[in-house]
Amino acid sequence: MIENIGETDTYKSLELDKNLMHAYLLYSSDRELNNNVALFFAKSLVCENHTACDECSACQQFSSRSHPDVNIIDQDSIKVEDVNNLISKLNTLPISSDKKVFVILNAENINEISQNKLLKSLEEPNENNIFILTTTKTDKILTTVMSRVKKVYVPSLNHEDKVTIANYLLKKKIDIQNYVNADFSLTEILNLATDSNYKKTIEDIYQLFLNLNSSQDIPRVVNNLTNTDKQLFYPCLQDIILNCLDPKERKFDRKLLELINSKYPQKALLKCLPLIENAYKKYSANVNFFYCLDNLLFNMLKEKYLCS
Ligand SMILES: [Zn+2]
Repeated sequence: MIENIGETDTYKSLELDKNLMHAYLLYSSDRELNNNVALFFAKSLVCENHTACDECSACQQFSSRSHPDVNIIDQDSIKVEDVNNLISKLNTLPISSDKKVFVILNAENINEISQNKLLKSLEEPNENNIFILTTTKTDKILTTVMSRVKKVYVPSLNHEDKVTIANYLLKKKIDIQNYVNADFSLTEILNLATDSNYKKTIEDIYQLFLNLNSSQDIPRVVNNLTNTDKQLFYPCLQDIILNCLDPKERKFDRKLLELINSKYPQKALLKCLPLIENAYKKYSANVNFFYCLDNLLFNMLKEKYLCS
């Protein structure tokens, strides 16, 4: 996890070092960003060093979702039972931290009845409890609930934030300078930060599209990918193609997406999706990775020329 989030304005506006509020609502139009900041905030509350250090046992319990004082509701449909279950834990004392933290991600999914039940706990706060809610739809949150929480707008990462994070990662020998100017989401940066295999796989996919122009290129491209993360490769490739098809979802390096869009007509990209899925299925059934890839690249080129 990136400690430097703690140095950004969003985090400062939570005033973690001053008086803690009993309930926060983090909102913006970016669901992943809201949720990442909320989880980071929750982790830092229970962390033994209060920094979300990722090293203490509290952070490790948090990451494996087994911290006794942390309750997280993270579902697309939040059921009445989930909220009842959470409410039933409000009056117990914290076990290993100073506070019990209740996180409800995407709180717009709580129905009105449950929101009203929650309201009672928000109106009569227990000093042992901290609520952290997130939403992309503040209009779906009851005004009575809204009035009981500290509302924190979560801005997208600005250039400065990205540079801070890039410099931090550089210290850890992870070079993301190239991505600073791209439309990377926080999630993507976190993946890059925590998973060097992921970064290598994206880079390999970039090379693949850069060098694949005719079937003669296939052996060379395949040979260049020998060290790539084979588990990640096909799902990643599929994700990238999906991003090329939906320009609203630019979560990968802009240069990579533009490169693919310039080389493959949209129609060909659509036809590549089932091909990738098929290659992944074969690979998962223990067919040789390079054989699947070779076959996939051949078919992708075929679609490219048929659709041009
Ligand atoms: Zn920690």
